[in-house]
Amino acid sequence: MKPPRDAQARQAVEPVVVYPDDALQPADLAALAAVRPGARLVASQPVPPREARCFRVAAGQFFRISCPEGAQVGDLNLWRADDLAEHFYSGKTRALHGTHLGRGARMWSNFPFLRPMATIVEDTLDWYGADRFGCRVHDVIGTRCDPYTNQLLTGGQYHHCCHSNLTRALAGETGLPLPEAEAHVHDVLNVFMCTGFSRDTGQYIMKASPVRAGDYLEFFAEIDLIGALSACPGGDCASEHSSDAATCHPLNVDIFAPAVPPADWTPPAPNAYDRTHGR
Ligand SMILES: [Zn+2]
Repeated sequence: MKPPRDAQARQAVEPVVVYPDDALQPADLAALAAVRPGARLVASQPVPPREARCFRVAAGQFFRISCPEGAQVGDLNLWRADDLAEHFYSGKTRALHGTHLGRGARMWSNFPFLRPMATIVEDTLDWYGADRFGCRVHDVIGTRCDPYTNQLLTGGQYHHCCHSNLTRALAGETGLPLPEAEAHVHDVLNVFMCTGFSRDTGQYIMKASPVRAGDYLEFFAEIDLIGALSACPGGDCASEHSSDAATCHPLNVDIFAPAVPPADWTPPAPNAYDRTHGR
């Protein structure tokens, strides 16, 4: 279309942050850090390559996703332990915290709950920042690799996409039939994945993850959780996923229980909106 006469003036309007940082009550990271040294390891859940596994974390415990052997990306889902209807909401989390999550960011739940499910307390990759391509680590912009998009784009059947891995894991954990479990699988936090948007076309881009053996991302569970973590068939996501082509490694989840709860911490209540919607 032919640009209007004031096109440049319209494009020159300065943007503002939609949800400014100071609008959110920040996590009390010092209170969480104070109880972490006294926490003991209570459970570990290894995640084999191209598979997913579930784990349970009680409110007030910490869970650490680590990369024990080689560069590997993980796709994380979270549900409220006693009601799968409450789950991680990547879109609103992205709107509140940005495209990639780091220390202090919360993983928020869907409507009508909209409360912190988990808080990120440690990230050994926080040195990465943004590279010259605008890529960062731990995104909430991708959805998860899935067999439907793979079918759409390649015509092939592949069963170890993160979507299918998470579906099998949740079905195994809960006893739900596969189709019911699948309906609970949602958009993920891409743990250790290095991604961004191309500046020219705005397309979703990825590159080899900077994660190495020994790196981890650690969370504080704000409510009782079931988590599911898939070791993505893309491995370090340098080239492709939805196939057995990439070199893949295991991931690990460790659960730590502090001796005492953090000072002044209580599990957050569901959102207080009255849900009358103006009627
Ligand atoms: Zn994947």
